[in-house]
Amino acid sequence: MKFIKLKFGLKYLTNYGIAGIGLGCIASIVLIFITANIYLFEDFELKTLDLRFRLRGSIHSNPDKNAVFEDIIIIDIDDASLRNLGRFQQWPRSYHAEIIDYIKKGNPKAIGFDIFFIEEDKSYQEDFKLSQATLKAKNVVHSMVLSKSKDDLRSIKSETQKEKLLLRYAYDLAKNYKNHNIHKCNISSVPIVSLLENSKGLGYASITPDNDGIVRNVPLVMEYNGYMYPSLALEIARISLGAKKEEIKILPGRYVKIKNTNIPINKEGRMLINYVGPEYSYRYIPYQVILRKDIPVDFFRDKIILIGASAPGLYDLPSTPFSPVYPGVEVHANAIYNILNKNFIIPLNQRATLGVVIFLGALTGFFSSSLRLINSIFGVLMIMLSYFIISVYFFEVKNTWVAIIQPTLNILFCYLVAWIYRYVSIEQQVFSDQLTKTYNRRYFDIKIEKEINAASWFHSPLSIMMLDIDFFKQLNDAYGHLAGDKVLEEVSFILKSTIRLKDTVARYGGEEFVIILPKCESEQAYVIADRIRRNIAEKQFYDKFGTSIRTTISIGVATYPINALNKRDLVLEADQALYQAKDNGRNMVMVAGKLL
Ligand code: GH3
Ligand code: MG
Ligand code: MG
Repeated sequence: MKFIKLKFGLKYLTNYGIAGIGLGCIASIVLIFITANIYLFEDFELKTLDLRFRLRGSIHSNPDKNAVFEDIIIIDIDDASLRNLGRFQQWPRSYHAEIIDYIKKGNPKAIGFDIFFIEEDKSYQEDFKLSQATLKAKNVVHSMVLSKSKDDLRSIKSETQKEKLLLRYAYDLAKNYKNHNIHKCNISSVPIVSLLENSKGLGYASITPDNDGIVRNVPLVMEYNGYMYPSLALEIARISLGAKKEEIKILPGRYVKIKNTNIPINKEGRMLINYVGPEYSYRYIPYQVILRKDIPVDFFRDKIILIGASAPGLYDLPSTPFSPVYPGVEVHANAIYNILNKNFIIPLNQRATLGVVIFLGALTGFFSSSLRLINSIFGVLMIMLSYFIISVYFFEVKNTWVAIIQPTLNILFCYLVAWIYRYVSIEQQVFSDQLTKTYNRRYFDIKIEKEINAASWFHSPLSIMMLDIDFFKQLNDAYGHLAGDKVLEEVSFILKSTIRLKDTVARYGGEEFVIILPKCESEQAYVIADRIRRNIAEKQFYDKFGTSIRTTISIGVATYPINALNKRDLVLEADQALYQAKDNGRNMVMVAGKLL
């Protein structure tokens, strides 16, 4: 017995569950189509990415909180350096020359300046020292600015000499790229001529935040004047890896290839920054400390040296997922670190994401159609929580960015759809008769009230018919109850197919039916009733052995407002007409008020 109950329970669960899975899949696909061109959720998705960065914290293997990455050293123009050396704008350029000369002795992989030398110094000597140090070091990368101006006035060509020298640092012709959205710039601010002549590399240091002001990616290349130019990070990475410009391969939407490293980029040429941790995740050394030569040169061996500013007065503090004020130079450090360690965040591809969305929709559909309300709320919350945990896991362990917002929204959507569906089908059950698939008495009682109100409001007639099968008891006795049930089903089918769309058939009880006919005078109602009577009288019914069964029906008709003014009296009048029909010999239609 218990087993049967269990089996029945499982069947119930799977029947509804499978319907729920189907519903979930359909609802998910509908949602995917609806939201296909709405980018509203993207901003929220980016916020969840920020959250994942903060949940992950530092990826340093050393559990010591103060442990920092030592492969990239940031020489920091900090407040203390400014206090001791004076205003940055007034620093002699020989300071930087001294720094380069000193660090160079330790043999670093590359030295990058996240500060600009765009205007000539008043003293030619100062510029000369810096460019000589740059030349001698053979691995210095300087910064430029590439940007886009709205008014074309500003895009007037700068000095032709500089433009010509700039071409030395171009990666490739822009027209070699098809089907991309790589940023086109029309303004450049490039270093002084002597640096352009002597620098090993040049990259733009511009940082481009997302719409919400947070920096999550770097455009690795941008177009200027028909050529592709690298970002500071890409250029420093290239020089550290000892790759030639010509070796760099750029495929927008796929990757930038340096030697055996494929850096994933989108169509705009942007690489997602995989921030290794909060600000100060790298070794910072104050500028003045290096200038004083307080650090032994060996410290710089094989390292990448970035010279930039953390002092708030120098305005290089963009917002990042970790902090609203994050030293810009460290953004470059992260990008370089990611490239050199092949440590990238890769968004889950679109097809897999759609698969995830549909799978979650199906799962939600399954739970919300086979569990009871309270349990299904719990079930859906569990799905959402597990999905969140899985996506955080994928981020932390697999460096994969799995979308959270769209799938979560889909879970809620499927849950809603499943419950609307359940509500509708429950309502259907509450108001319908299982055997005859007509409405039941409960529905009739509600519907007749409404129809009488409408008839009274519009001053229109309303007829009802009471129908009762003749000698049904005998039919049951002669052919069995199952045959009787079959006849009932077929009779109700005839009723449904004879009436108009706005009419309502309900099973009043046993083998009695009632039909509501709005906007129908008693003459019309009589015609319809007689058609029903004839259809049934002429119909051959069969039992399961194929034995032919004939039956007839008696019908009583009453009409609002001529026979009665309320529901109770109207039903009573129709009922009395029905009894008259029975008394007069059955297989007959009688109209109330015209009784003999
Ligand atoms: P009358 O012409 O006077 O209406 O005769 P009748 O035999 O139809 O009399 P009555 O309306 O009193 O009998 C109703 C019978 O209908 C009683 C019951 O056995 C049968 N019946 C009621 N509901 C069902 C049902 O759902 N299935 C079957 N097979 N029979 C039913
Ligand atoms: Mg009967
Ligand atoms: Mg009866």
